[in-house]
Amino acid sequence: MNNIASTENLRYDNKVVVVTGAGGGLGKAYALFFASRGASVVVNDLGGSFKGEGNSTKAADVVVDEIKKAGGKAVANYDSVENGERIIETAVKAFGTVHILINNAGILRDVAFRNMKDTDWDLIQKVHVKGSYKCTKAAWPIFRKQKYGRIINTASAAGLFGSFGQANYSAAKLGMVAFSEVLAKEGAKYNIMTNAIAPIAASRMTETVMPPEVLENLKPDWVVPLVAVLVHDSNVGESGGIYEVGAGHVAKLRWERSKGALYKTDVSLTPSAISRKWDAVNDFTNPDHPTGPADFMGLLEAAGEMSSNE
Ligand code: NAD
Repeated sequence: MNNIASTENLRYDNKVVVVTGAGGGLGKAYALFFASRGASVVVNDLGGSFKGEGNSTKAADVVVDEIKKAGGKAVANYDSVENGERIIETAVKAFGTVHILINNAGILRDVAFRNMKDTDWDLIQKVHVKGSYKCTKAAWPIFRKQKYGRIINTASAAGLFGSFGQANYSAAKLGMVAFSEVLAKEGAKYNIMTNAIAPIAASRMTETVMPPEVLENLKPDWVVPLVAVLVHDSNVGESGGIYEVGAGHVAKLRWERSKGALYKTDVSLTPSAISRKWDAVNDFTNPDHPTGPADFMGLLEAAGEMSSNE
């Protein structure tokens, strides 16, 4: 991307950043970073357990205190992201607007699918999907009006690839990718850039499932720089991306479609016709990389031509 600034010291002076779930883990690292680079930060955190139980003002307060002691600007907000309008209202009341929204808050309710209860499913969708929606919905008219907005949505490798015991979480996290891709398209002409990250970092979410020597190299601080680049003024055009980031590795992901097979759309399109061309359906040697539903139209036209020509 040509526009991304290559300076070592990206600044965020006069920018208002809302970070959800900023009381710990990745969110805290984002909040401390942006405040240290001149931004005014809303530190949102409900302060509950990693399973989404309880609430407390302490998580957000500790981070706000740390920012203020270092000479930065921050206010706390203790609402659940399900009430995103109140979080954005906090930003507007304290700092007049919002420029950057980092949808980061999250919980886990891991359980094998066989044993999953509706409450495990619903709570995960509420916090991750509805929470990101509500915060973004409240910020969106402001972004459009000021013709400036930067959004990060937090996906996960669990969402991209599926993870045992995380059907609820994986479904929600892939939802964050689709959400980002739509916002990238709808926000383009208003200078609203939206990207999704699939981070890996040591936090209370991962400390019970990974050994200490692995966690040592997974500092949330190693996720921050990518987010910093994507939400900076200098990012004009990099939107709708999906990035894996953590432990010093940053990579972009995209969809890949096999060339596939074409069939005449008549009575010959039978299950055995599908089976006969099964290898072609699954052959990734010469793939496409579609970026929108319209990319499919060319294939439909080719299939239509084949049917009318024969
Ligand atoms: P974390 O538990 O340290 O941080 C999440 C924060 O969100 C907590 O402080 C929590 O209190 C807050 N929160 C939870 N529900 C909330 C709600 N309803 N409203 C407001 N705040 C709420 O975990 P983390 O690892 O820093 O996770 C941050 C994000 O990154 C999450 O979305 C998580 O799913 C995602 N993620 C993390 C990893 C990883 O390796 N740590 C991997 C993939 C995705």
